[in-house]
Amino acid sequence: MISLLPQHTNYSSMNTKNSADHVMVRELNLSLVLRYIHNEAPLSRARLAEMTGLNKSTVSSLVEELIERGLVHETGVNSLGKARPATLLEVNPQAGGIMGVALGVDFVAVALTNFIGEILWRRMESADPADGQEKTLEKTLKLVDEAITACRPKKLRILGLGLATPGTVDLNEGVLIFAPNLHWHNVPLRKIFSEHTSLKIFIENDANAAAIAEHLFGIARHCQDFVFVFAGIGIGGGLFLNGELYRGSNGYAGEIGHSSIMTEPAQTSCHCGNRGCWETHANQYSIIQRVQARMEVKRSSIISKLLSEQNVPLSISIIKQAADVGDVEAIESFSEAGHAMGQGFAGLINIFNPEKIILGGPLSMAGQYLLPAIEETVSLHSLPEIGRQAKVVLSNFGPDASLIGAIAIVVDDVLANPTHVERR
Ligand SMILES: [Zn+2]
Repeated sequence: MISLLPQHTNYSSMNTKNSADHVMVRELNLSLVLRYIHNEAPLSRARLAEMTGLNKSTVSSLVEELIERGLVHETGVNSLGKARPATLLEVNPQAGGIMGVALGVDFVAVALTNFIGEILWRRMESADPADGQEKTLEKTLKLVDEAITACRPKKLRILGLGLATPGTVDLNEGVLIFAPNLHWHNVPLRKIFSEHTSLKIFIENDANAAAIAEHLFGIARHCQDFVFVFAGIGIGGGLFLNGELYRGSNGYAGEIGHSSIMTEPAQTSCHCGNRGCWETHANQYSIIQRVQARMEVKRSSIISKLLSEQNVPLSISIIKQAADVGDVEAIESFSEAGHAMGQGFAGLINIFNPEKIILGGPLSMAGQYLLPAIEETVSLHSLPEIGRQAKVVLSNFGPDASLIGAIAIVVDDVLANPTHVERR
């Protein structure tokens, strides 16, 4: 009898451990199957078993649970070829709504999408960094309220709210640590948005969020090593290495624009407090300053005419319009910034040996004028065998990169943790 007691205790703890392991393995497998369906759909259960290496009955049970949670649905029958017709599965667009919020330096944008990223509601408003934190956040929360009201008649459960912001983010605390171009420090964004909406809040740096979006829905879907460059007023990077977002030791990796790559001229002040940061030579402001300098020396350009006709201040959009009708000053200004970007890209290519560098964010709207200069400089300044195989490509999301990124971080969490979504 005495000897049974410890044995009994052992069995009991082992059973608890086994069942905990069993739950964990099932959760990992649910996530695995859901990711395959998300990335490769439409898929049959048999094909899923082949791809995941799980047996068919396990796959059927996992699929059943994903269907019960409303994340997957049957979409039709594959009757092609000689094989027996098989029911196909895909991710259910109606699994739930996703709220995306992009805090830009000069804009705020909010979108509501279904589970496959189709936009149901979207609004963007301009913002001025001089407006200050309180006013900009108030404006953003108002847009979020409008999106929630618009969603109500659709009876769509909202799976979460993703927030993409420039600057360094403490993911554990949900705090924006420092956004140089906004001059914001230590803003408890998760707390602010959670108290206002009662939704589950996800926060990520804008370039990291956009990189996740490219991997989930964009041109890096099957790419394991790439760098996403978010180019606008600031220049940030999202590093995807070995198929995963690389965050660095504190989670702040990817602040590529604040490296002092340019030695000459190195005197331009950056909003981060340093001088000579690479982004000051390649960002939105640098292009506007180049155009202004050219106009001061009275070069002939259609830009002055466009400004007076449209009664607006000088912007990238105006410079792009001028470039589109062949204006040399506009085209050369983009090209100079493209050469500066190329120097930064060459450094990234030499260090990370990526398959792709994806240019996205507001400046990608002028991608056609930037890319030739970027490619020329990359081939000059990267090591030949590394530079040759790295492709510089434009994001399909254009200026919406951070907004789609905000949606993507919520989708990514659901794919990683399908059991967090309740059964219907
Ligand atoms: Zn800087």
